Amino acid sequence: MSARLSEFQLVQPARIEDAIAAFVAKPGARYVAGGTDLLVNMRRGIVSADRLIDLSGVAGWGSIDADAEGMTIGAGVTIAALARDPIVISRYPAVAQAATSIAGPGHRNVATVGGNLCLDTRCIYYNQSEWWRKSNDYCLKNRGDTCHVAPQGKRCHAAFSGDLAPVFLALGASAEIAGVDGRRRVPLSDLYVEDGRAHLSLKPGELVASVHLPAVLAACAYEKVRARGAIDYPLAGVAVALMIAGGKIVMLRIALTGTNSRPFLLADVDQFIGKSVDDAMLHGVDRLVQRQVQPMRTTLAAAHYRRLAAAAVARRVVRRLAGA
Ligand SMILES: Cc1cc2nc3c(=O)[nH]c(=O)nc-3n(C[C@H](O)[C@H](O)[C@H](O)COP(=O)(O)OP(=O)(O)OC[C@H]3O[C@@H](n4cnc5c(N)ncnc54)[C@H](O)[C@@H]3O)c2cc1C
Ligand code: SF4
Repeated sequence: MSARLSEFQLVQPARIEDAIAAFVAKPGARYVAGGTDLLVNMRRGIVSADRLIDLSGVAGWGSIDADAEGMTIGAGVTIAALARDPIVISRYPAVAQAATSIAGPGHRNVATVGGNLCLDTRCIYYNQSEWWRKSNDYCLKNRGDTCHVAPQGKRCHAAFSGDLAPVFLALGASAEIAGVDGRRRVPLSDLYVEDGRAHLSLKPGELVASVHLPAVLAACAYEKVRARGAIDYPLAGVAVALMIAGGKIVMLRIALTGTNSRPFLLADVDQFIGKSVDDAMLHGVDRLVQRQVQPMRTTLAAAHYRRLAAAAVARRVVRRLAGA
């Protein structure tokens, strides 16, 4: 059962600078884009805000610009617009693939790229109603002092479950971040921190303005494992970018979501450069994934299942891309 939304003031700026100023003027304000993550969490009482800064009216927020250097995707581009954009489909089919797998059609019509990259981490002890969490003494991520998943530890293991981030990471994306000090561009991986309570490296008031994808020659694909085929977050999601020349791997990136508190690029994949995609190589990928993912008991599916699923999907996608 969801509670009613608490009272808040709504601000609708027309420029990014005005949005940031509105944030700075009211500590405790929150940005809202499509609201498909934030408003659910506000109704459950796990997020509160006196002021919501609606980013949907910001000029240029929802544009997609492509040239020979690559593509720049505004943070306000909706997931539906991303999934049906003809240039995205032809140049970055894995992005369209991941976008189509996010939530349901109604969500995708309003949900945005920025919101997807910045959505809150998830856990079965956290994404619950107020009375449920209260009866379980809350938890470390919200109002409590114990993590029910790892009671001996002092950190939150809630999982990041966005579907776009792994594909962007595999494609070598960077993010443009806007804040009171101006704008900066960082590798997308720098946006994330392995901490379920504070998984974004954004400073107060900063927001993601756009994502830049370089022009790529690599083949790329995304696959996710989920409990329900229709509408569901990834229990484990894997994106692979692979380039092969003369039968040997010349570039490989593997990125994962759903298993850790941040989406991340698999480390040590350079050991496969110069090798062919064969059983030994796929076994090596499997072992690397199993060693680096850290699924915890944050979903109804067992952590061990998510570890094995992530490894199996990584093997499968690498094999599929090599065949293509
Ligand atoms: C039933 C259901 C199923 C879902 N399934 C999936 C799924 O399969 N895969 C998936 O990835 N997601 C899923 N979602 C989550 C959500 O719908 C998407 O992640 C969506 O893309 C979030 O975008 P939004 O614009 O609605 O974000 P909002 O809810 O507006 O914002 C989410 C968070 O990001 C912050 N934020 C928004 N924009 C910016 C910005 N530009 N810079 C900095 N911070 C920002 C907000 O302050 C908020 O904290 C699901 C949600 C529901 C309700
Ligand atoms: S991992 Fe622990 S602290 Fe984090 S949301 Fe779940 S129960 Fe709470």
